[in-house]
Amino acid sequence: MIKNKGKENMQDPKRKLYTGPLVDVSFDSDLCIHSGNCVRSMPEIFNVKARPWVNPSVADTAQKADFLRNVVSTCPRHALRIEEHPA
Ligand code: SF4
Repeated sequence: MIKNKGKENMQDPKRKLYTGPLVDVSFDSDLCIHSGNCVRSMPEIFNVKARPWVNPSVADTAQKADFLRNVVSTCPRHALRIEEHPA
């Protein structure tokens, strides 16, 4: 079971926010259907055995951030969402 351990997101309290150097990731556990797309595609960021289970700090290059965006886009219920940093 995936647990929420990120920061509270004031705009959407059900979403936890996990911050990274280039992009942040938010997660709503109520929407997750445990398909495993995220952990299979990018286990260095999505690891249910780690705390926090989402670690966007690994996406520290533009290429890795783009890959993370692609992985998040495969979440079937939009439980994961990319939170872009302000320009
Ligand atoms: S891809 Fe989305 S629905 Fe699937 S396990 Fe990850 S967060 Fe949950």
